[in-house]
Amino acid sequence: MTREECLTRDRVDPIAAHRGNFTLPPNTIYLDGNSLGAMPKATMARLEEVARRQWSADLITSWNRHGWIDLPLRVGGKIARLIGAEATEVAATDSTSVNLFKVLYAALEMRPTRRKILSERGNFPTDLYTAEGLTKALGNRHRLELVEADKLPAAIDDDTAVVMLTHVNYRSGALHDLKALTAAAHDAGALTIWDLAHSAGAVPLDLTRANADFAVGCGYKYLNGGPGAPAFLYVAGRHQAEFVQPLTGWLGHAAPFAFETSYRPAPGIARALCGTPPILSLAALEVGVDSVLAADAQALRAKSMALGDLFIDAVEGQGGDQLALRLASPRDATHRGSQVSFRHAEGYPIMQALIARGVIGDFRTPDILRFGFAPLYIRHVDVWDAAAALIDVVKSRAWDRPEFKRRAAVT
Ligand SMILES: *Cc1c(COP(=O)(O)O)cnc(C)c1O
Repeated sequence: MTREECLTRDRVDPIAAHRGNFTLPPNTIYLDGNSLGAMPKATMARLEEVARRQWSADLITSWNRHGWIDLPLRVGGKIARLIGAEATEVAATDSTSVNLFKVLYAALEMRPTRRKILSERGNFPTDLYTAEGLTKALGNRHRLELVEADKLPAAIDDDTAVVMLTHVNYRSGALHDLKALTAAAHDAGALTIWDLAHSAGAVPLDLTRANADFAVGCGYKYLNGGPGAPAFLYVAGRHQAEFVQPLTGWLGHAAPFAFETSYRPAPGIARALCGTPPILSLAALEVGVDSVLAADAQALRAKSMALGDLFIDAVEGQGGDQLALRLASPRDATHRGSQVSFRHAEGYPIMQALIARGVIGDFRTPDILRFGFAPLYIRHVDVWDAAAALIDVVKSRAWDRPEFKRRAAVT
């Protein structure tokens, strides 16, 4: 495709207008919406409203008057629409890591005679660390078994309590077959936990049809909830009565304001809550979730796949292969989330040089250049220009400068 053709595509893109709902800095191509989603224009007004009108004027009465207390489940109910769940099955609360701890504990309790937690070797580290820490806290009665993605079905056995996976791999963007793996786990009597961090808001999901058990996911990636936005947690309705989570804080109590001496879990998804919710963050998350709900999910997915294909074609078509840029993502868009990764031995300084030119992606060790395509606000022409910039940076060796090789705390 030529740059002209990209511009034509953008003119006929059915969801192009959504870009106007975001504040994006000038002269920047932002391909990191999979790490921190862009800010919706409506977010600032909402934050002002909550801070100025609600907090400063109405103070503590806002918990009732402005429904602050309902926000975790109200926003959860909206996220439910993006992941094919019932509104009563999702809460927006805590971080993904903390939610994973809660659902993993609950799932292990539901399979008390089984010892194995099965996951993928390349899973996101916080998921593995959380399983490690929980296993230790439970007295090392369980073991975490890690296998390569293609070995997962064969590794599910009658000692497997939980199959815990991330739907879209954070490095490669490879997509698991959520429905088939859930069915395989169930056939062996195991439960599933899906981490939807890189899926929610970019890949249409149907947890109900897949018969999923538990899921967690991120609010600050494709949901555009802002830095450190609350995460979400899904518990299938059929498991909620049995769902016993270990962080038994007062807001998960059946009657928080009865101030009883001992814990009684709330009915339903409310028992997934723990402490006082961060209202400013939840308000921003609600605006972010609304920004995604405003677009047709299938149109988002179609555009996301097209943008990924375009990037691969543009990089390879301009000689990426001769420049030692190796595709690290599935070539087939139906097996890919909303990102494309290339490997290069000098990946870190190449990404820094790209960022210096206003093309923002990120780097994941050891050699992954990662480009996320948030279909709500990325245009075809942005993808074309980013590919051209990548080729130019590698070809000209513009990356080969000391300032691009110094590692920052966040890569
Ligand atoms: C981004 C991400 C997380 C983030 O977890 P936090 O607790 O919100 O920091 C978790 N899991 C996966 C797979 C991620 O990509």
